[in-house]
Amino acid sequence: MKIGILAVQGAFREHEHMLQKLGVDTLYVKKQEHLEGVEGLIVPGGESTSIGRLMREYNLIPPIRELAKSGMPIMGTCAGLIVLAKEIANGDEPHLALLDTVVDRNSFGRQRESFETDLDIPALGAEPFPAVFIRAPHVKAVGDAVTVLAYYEGRIVGVEQDHLLGFSFHPELTGDDRIHRYFLQKVEAWTKQPSA
Ligand code: GLN
Repeated sequence: MKIGILAVQGAFREHEHMLQKLGVDTLYVKKQEHLEGVEGLIVPGGESTSIGRLMREYNLIPPIRELAKSGMPIMGTCAGLIVLAKEIANGDEPHLALLDTVVDRNSFGRQRESFETDLDIPALGAEPFPAVFIRAPHVKAVGDAVTVLAYYEGRIVGVEQDHLLGFSFHPELTGDDRIHRYFLQKVEAWTKQPSA
């Protein structure tokens, strides 16, 4: 299994460490050619406007959209969720525009710029997930194909749409690897498909 981590800006190293601990081969995606042979992609947290701008500059948006359309799993965390969304509430141009959601940036106010909290995520099992939020977005609206995986204070902070996953928080910053394993299961299922 070979997982690409979009590495134009943001917290990509932490995802690499998490995947290495899980024994998975990773590579940094900074140019189109790095996407060759990649079987899943992580879009990390950081600054969504910078990530979007650099993706455009390096012509990464069309090939990643193509791969997503062919069924390749993609997981976006924090800014990565914003990059995946079809619509950004404050009027920013959407970036990858794959995940059928409206996402609002910087949702949790100045006083709560960053915090850690235990979230109930039934898809991962009964044990709460330690979620680190840093100037996090939340999902304001979802389309029919989207399943909500997690809420925080009544707001949607985790979603799934077939092979796409999006989280408001940073699952790579804690020792809990269940979200990465959940993503890898999707990658495994996809690589085993006869047509893949
Ligand atoms: N606030 C950032 C944005 O809007 C996201 C923050 C993060 O990824 N930790 O892009």
